[in-house]
Amino acid sequence: MIKEEIKKIVLQKNLFKDVIGQDEVKHQLKSGLMSGRNIIIVGPPGAGKTTLVKSLAESLPSLKVNDCGFNCLEDAPVCPQCLENKKNNKETKTVELTGEDRFVRIQGSPDLTVEDLIGDIDPLKAMEFGPLSVEAFTPGKIFKANNGILFFDEINRCNEKLQNAMLQLLQEHTVTIGSYSFDFDADFLFIATMNPKDVNTERLSDVFVDRFDFIYMDYPETLENEIKIVKSENNFLGSEVIFQEHMLSATLKFVRTLRKSKDLEKVPSVRASIGLYQRAIANALLRNAKEVSLQDILRSMTSVLAHRISLKPSLRHELSTEDFVKKSFDSFTEREGLSTDLGESP
Ligand SMILES: [Zn+2]
Repeated sequence: MIKEEIKKIVLQKNLFKDVIGQDEVKHQLKSGLMSGRNIIIVGPPGAGKTTLVKSLAESLPSLKVNDCGFNCLEDAPVCPQCLENKKNNKETKTVELTGEDRFVRIQGSPDLTVEDLIGDIDPLKAMEFGPLSVEAFTPGKIFKANNGILFFDEINRCNEKLQNAMLQLLQEHTVTIGSYSFDFDADFLFIATMNPKDVNTERLSDVFVDRFDFIYMDYPETLENEIKIVKSENNFLGSEVIFQEHMLSATLKFVRTLRKSKDLEKVPSVRASIGLYQRAIANALLRNAKEVSLQDILRSMTSVLAHRISLKPSLRHELSTEDFVKKSFDSFTEREGLSTDLGESP
């Protein structure tokens, strides 16, 4: 049982060692996993939800499974092909899955159907061969998470029908497709996410949310942690360009200031911080400079930030997001007394 397996690794000392900061979130997640709860991680995009759960999966031990695409265990197959092979005493080739392979991500969307997720039954063939036969049943995406972690991203984008199917599956381990109900034997740990500010979403029903614990995750708690995260995304290793600590710190502080801005409806995530860092270094490299200058940072601002934010409706006709970024950065550097400090590098 995957949940039992997870309970064992929760107590490992180095669990989540690659995830910087977020100590309270880690604690909440461990506590939820230990008690076998169904979990939804609530937070804005780019806060690190995927990284966190991926890191959990990477701690899972390798596992030998059938090479059927659905990770069936030799003695407990769930997919039609392996079930058939077992019935006929036919051997199935096996493969070794790493912890990382045992992480499956499904993107929630209004178009995702129960059939996409769980599987589709051909009604005519079902009458002839049975609903779960190789001939009639095409397994859906969820089977790929068998014996692993099913990471369901932005579940609040899914329609109510899908929410209900998911509930039925988690609670009763049964599934209804068309006129067929059957036992669903795939075994996985379910962790979902939702973005509370997403406007294009279905409301999750009370019945649904009552079956979950919510764990709240926000952007990095401190500037120091955000600097560490950004530096871990240095894809120019080996290059000589120096990004002075006070310059990087000011750049990320600016992003963090925007997150608190009353004028913004959508704010920049950690991906924006990483983008500014990488683009500023690239700009310095392109002019053969040894050091990132204020100009290099400025030059990346519009391209990285403008489309990642949106202004409050009352401001939208007054100025563009490009102008907003420029104006905000100007007043930020002035306010912080950084204009001279951040001057052109020699
Ligand atoms: Zn199988």
